[in-house]
Amino acid sequence: PFHKSKGQHILKNPLIVDAIVEKAGIKPTDVILEIGPGTGNLTKKLLEAGKSVVAVELDPRMVLELQRRFQGTPFSNRLKVIQGDVLKCELPYFDICVANIPYQISSPLTFKLLSHRPAFRCAVIMFQREFAMRLVAHPGDSLYCRLTVNTQLLARVSHLLKVGKNNFRPPPKVDSSVVRIEPRKPLPPVNFKEWDGLIRLCFTRKNKTLGSIFRQKNVLSMMEKNYKTLQALQTSQNGPHNENPMDMGVSELRKGFEDLSMDVDDDRDDMEMEDDETAGESSDFKNKVMAVLKKNDFEDKRSSKLTQEDFLRLLSLFNEAGMHFS
Ligand code: SAM
Repeated sequence: PFHKSKGQHILKNPLIVDAIVEKAGIKPTDVILEIGPGTGNLTKKLLEAGKSVVAVELDPRMVLELQRRFQGTPFSNRLKVIQGDVLKCELPYFDICVANIPYQISSPLTFKLLSHRPAFRCAVIMFQREFAMRLVAHPGDSLYCRLTVNTQLLARVSHLLKVGKNNFRPPPKVDSSVVRIEPRKPLPPVNFKEWDGLIRLCFTRKNKTLGSIFRQKNVLSMMEKNYKTLQALQTSQNGPHNENPMDMGVSELRKGFEDLSMDVDDDRDDMEMEDDETAGESSDFKNKVMAVLKKNDFEDKRSSKLTQEDFLRLLSLFNEAGMHFS
């Protein structure tokens, strides 16, 4: 009866359902968004705790079952079910999101939520354990990666609860964790497309030094191209980077982060790497880039150890030198 492809693993342990609802800190005035309500075990508790629930469910059979479950109960007029793919539908207003989601949509869903406006208060979501640990990782942790840095730019993230696979029917192959995500208000003043451009570069090999990443031929030529385009633009008019970076629309933000994948193999051993350096030819531009890194002691640093503040500083130093990543 359950579709593996839709990630249908029903949470069977009522203690876990209660713990999730309790940790979510729902207020009686809250409009709650639930994603993938399934048979409604969590939905019922959410209806008891909040003002109303909007539930988005892909599977029409589940939608029917859900409606049948609450029909003729006092809950029915406080529950709205939207049948569809949460990644494709327009989300309604919500104060808080609580969900046990299909794991294959973890990354795009996280960034869809984080780019939703007005920003919600918090989201309490069940993820695959490894994905959850990537979200909450700190510099130096083995799972610290591009996903970590991009998520933590937009939100505070904390681990709430470990949930073993046997709490689900049918049990999934992996363990799970519940995570709290609170959007930062206001967001840090950066252009997110550009931020992601830099972070993507820095994490191509997170254990390599920034010096060796930015000495690579293809990286330098990409940066130099941007640099020259921008200079040309600025002599003819006001360049695009003179805009207020916060003007970038949220849809841009979503697009930029859409393809973030947790499977990115960014933990490869550096020793396998062949350096693609500009052999001997001293280019002016390369020296400029190295000067930015050197002046501020970034040359020998590795992304795996850099904090959010370090990356923000690195981006603004590059920008001050007229160097951009989008
Ligand atoms: N919330 C229920 C529970 O905790 O027992 C069910 C959780 S189950 C892990 C995930 C649910 O999400 C399933 O009911 C599945 O049909 C639904 N689903 C899968 N993909 C979806 C999508 N793209 N949009 C909305 N719902 C989806």
